[in-house]
Amino acid sequence: MQATEDKNGIDVLVIGGGLAGLATSIHVARAGLRVTCVQSDELRSDLVGESLDWSAPDLLKAIGLPTNMLMQRGIATIKQHVTLRLLDGSERHYVPGTWLAGFPFNVCLDTIHVDREALAQVIGDLAERERVHVISDQVIRVEEKARRILSVVTKRGLQLHARWFVDASGGTTRLLARTFSLPSREYGPGKVAMWDYFSVTGPTVEGTTLYCASSAKYMDWIWQIPIRPGLVSVGCVSTGEAIKQQRQSGLNVPQIYEARLKEFPALASLLTAAGPVAPRVTSFRCRVHKRVSGPNWLIVGEAASMVDPMTANGVTAALRHAQEAAALLIRNRNASRLPRPAAAAYSRRVTDIAAFFNNLIEKIVYERDIRAHVGVLVAGDVYTIPAWLMNLFYSRIRPKGVIATACFGMVLCFLRCGAATFSRFCRVRAAAPTPD
Ligand SMILES: Cc1cc2nc3c(=O)[nH]c(=O)nc-3n(C[C@H](O)[C@H](O)[C@H](O)COP(=O)(O)OP(=O)(O)OC[C@H]3O[C@@H](n4cnc5c(N)ncnc54)[C@H](O)[C@@H]3O)c2cc1C
Repeated sequence: MQATEDKNGIDVLVIGGGLAGLATSIHVARAGLRVTCVQSDELRSDLVGESLDWSAPDLLKAIGLPTNMLMQRGIATIKQHVTLRLLDGSERHYVPGTWLAGFPFNVCLDTIHVDREALAQVIGDLAERERVHVISDQVIRVEEKARRILSVVTKRGLQLHARWFVDASGGTTRLLARTFSLPSREYGPGKVAMWDYFSVTGPTVEGTTLYCASSAKYMDWIWQIPIRPGLVSVGCVSTGEAIKQQRQSGLNVPQIYEARLKEFPALASLLTAAGPVAPRVTSFRCRVHKRVSGPNWLIVGEAASMVDPMTANGVTAALRHAQEAAALLIRNRNASRLPRPAAAAYSRRVTDIAAFFNNLIEKIVYERDIRAHVGVLVAGDVYTIPAWLMNLFYSRIRPKGVIATACFGMVLCFLRCGAATFSRFCRVRAAAPTPD
């Protein structure tokens, strides 16, 4: 062991310096706790998560990044709606109802798209200003006794002790979930995303566009996101199995990506103007862990739960977990352990919300039953209305205690069961013989 951190030098040790890790670090450092964040640059993957949902701007503002500042610096563009466009050219705009802007909800009807590299830079600067000590290293081992973390050991041989630990190591590492073998549930098949950036001229489109082939058995889709003026991100999401088959038939990643974009004239013209493409690739599996809190630790962001990218809820989840985990640590800064009810309530909210989003998007949009019955454009409504309302109520009610969390969980469970029942109904109707 090369060096040992002063045992009393760190109040909170955060593992992972992505969005969730740095946002948690900033919140707790601002409350006067001494924070060290270990970030592995070796494990850092291409940043993605550019189209934010309607709850994200307030959460960004809470760490010191108001929308107008992000827009002025060219890091964000306005997102007023989501447009769903099909192969036959039909389309639908999903826009929050104007009634949401008035009393008593007073919701801002715009959200933003962000340039994730530029956003990571400003969050990093903010963390530095708040005196978050960032160490470039990789946590490789967790020393624990009876589920209480004593220290972590890094690749460079540091042994870091702290009173509190936060796992923000992302969906691939999931350090504490693996250490404590936390139960989890997976949603949908493994998926692959391929994406690239294109320069565009003309006015910025104030919305995210999704392109779908509506008749597919399991939905695959393409996003087009204006991440900053003059630049759009275009990404395709398919099942891992579909990509594997295409690779086995001899196609390489750029060829698969180009073939997908060429199905839609608007995207084909981007390809023609751009020349050869070199898409970034990532594979992922939507997964929700249970029991994401312990005596002196909490899990935040994708290390706790990964929601499907189509929900545009990943960034909100990361920032929300960060805010709630930080509040819990700050409230109990002088305690010897987290109070069981509060820690369990945190865990329950993280799990319930991610399960809600994953369940709805799988049943209503990805799987074929509901889509085939009501049509994909209407399926978009069936998904977005409860999703928007859930975010709205969550950000307004802010359930914290055990009872509020349990009530909120029951509402989410009811909506999930509703989607599952409707999906079964559609399947039975589709299977029933049609009268002559
Ligand atoms: C294809 C795709 C598209 C998406 N699109 C959207 C979108 O449009 N909108 C949206 O809201 N969300 C989207 N998301 C989700 C969003 O990107 C994530 O939810 C969010 O970035 C998660 O942040 P995080 O901090 O939890 O994890 P990460 O960003 O993965 O950060 C984890 C960090 O931990 C570090 N690390 C890992 N292991 C260790 C270790 N052992 N020691 C030290 N450091 C470690 C890594 O280097 C990394 O920097 C998308 C996700 C995918 C896969």
